[in-house]
Amino acid sequence: PARVRFAPSPTGHLHLGGARTALYDYLLARQTGGQFVLRIEDTDRKRLVEGAEQELIDGLRWLGLDYDEGPDIGGPYGPYRQSERKEIYQHYAKQLVDAGYAYYCFCTPDRLERVRQEQQARKEASHYDGTCRNLDPDEAARRIAAGEKYVIRFKTPKEGTTTVTDVVRGPITVENRVLDDYIIVKSDGLALYHLAAAVDDHLMKITHVIRGSEWLPTFPLHGMIHRALGWEEPAWVHLSVFLKPSGKGKMSKREKADLMKDGHSIFIKDLQSLGYLPEAVVNWISLMGWSYDDHTEFFNLPDLVDKFSLQKLNPSPAAINFSKLDHFNGLHIRSLTHEDLARRIKPFFMEKGFAADDATLLRIAPIIQEHIATLDEAVDFAGFFFKDEITPVPENLIAKGLTARQSAEIAEKSLAILAALPDLRLETAEPPMRKLLEESGFSAGQVFGIMREAITGQRVSPPLFESMEIVGRETVLARMENAIR
Ligand code: GLU
Repeated sequence: PARVRFAPSPTGHLHLGGARTALYDYLLARQTGGQFVLRIEDTDRKRLVEGAEQELIDGLRWLGLDYDEGPDIGGPYGPYRQSERKEIYQHYAKQLVDAGYAYYCFCTPDRLERVRQEQQARKEASHYDGTCRNLDPDEAARRIAAGEKYVIRFKTPKEGTTTVTDVVRGPITVENRVLDDYIIVKSDGLALYHLAAAVDDHLMKITHVIRGSEWLPTFPLHGMIHRALGWEEPAWVHLSVFLKPSGKGKMSKREKADLMKDGHSIFIKDLQSLGYLPEAVVNWISLMGWSYDDHTEFFNLPDLVDKFSLQKLNPSPAAINFSKLDHFNGLHIRSLTHEDLARRIKPFFMEKGFAADDATLLRIAPIIQEHIATLDEAVDFAGFFFKDEITPVPENLIAKGLTARQSAEIAEKSLAILAALPDLRLETAEPPMRKLLEESGFSAGQVFGIMREAITGQRVSPPLFESMEIVGRETVLARMENAIR
């Protein structure tokens, strides 16, 4: 069984990149009967954003990625917030220093900045110049006792090479001399990601570290830290980067401009409010760097638990295609039950101020299910069901190819037919209307188009007769009359 963790820094909402990592974590955990852990990496106090932890949790919940251990639910390896684990990291930092794998560094920010500028002038890559690397331990102890500020740096070997192995990319070997003496504990005593994550992954018995490829440059350091502490390394999995988003999708220009930056600026909660289903978002994200075969694309979460495999991850950049998301959303909308669809469109009606009752929504669901690509489209498409009054556009009451007079006449005939019927159920209303069509020699598009405008105030609507049944006899007749006058 795999133990995997999603370890976001609480700096904002759940974004696409985070959601993908969390999804793959979840899949691996569920598939192997293991655990999915949520760990909050909040050691960088400057970057903290109020409420971000809850936002991340809400995002995971909405996607359906339940975790087994986490800051809000606890678990056997807590605490699950790094800010609450300060002493644990200090213990291991000291162990590294004592064993000669790390050292105290007293260089001031001013001095480091000067070094950086000199290196820049010499066109060298910026790196720590090693001033404190070989300080005598007694002197270091004396300076600490005297209250001097310090950081702890990892003492990266200057010679030889380090090889670390990524599940997707295979072995990666670097020359040690190109690696810096990275800071692992800051001057405020809090561990930096490199140390904190290594310690937590070990203590939390994490078997697979799945994370973004932005961690590839410091990957050798992470391997070295595990080794220096005598720990077995987890399996390392670095996911692909994202390509610039493409595809039109349903978004407006402005929405797209906001979203079209990269995977790290596309927020899950925005996709939610744009009317995408979590099932569709999960499906879409699952294929950003993973594939099952060369043709199967429709997956729900249980399918993915079944079919996911690390071996099929692809290191090449992943496409973010919004047209694809629309496509998946349509498919997933069509596979919902009517009850479920009714329940999901409801908030979109409420938000627009429609008093959408459950009974009516349940009748609407089957007749719009084939026609909407996103949940919010239901409001434009079916809002007329909840309007007290609709205002048809006069020009639209004149059918294409017909004169105003012909249009008015056929509308009146239609009204007469409908008014004479005992009810407006599909079976009752459609046959006599079809007959009228035949006799008049006009097309369904012409006649039903006029009725559609009269009854719904829209040029496109769900199927007319089904809609009339839901709108109800009285209202249909009143609206037809109103349109004729
Ligand atoms: N806190 C890191 C981040 O937000 C986590 C990286 C990891 O999963 O190890 O990117």
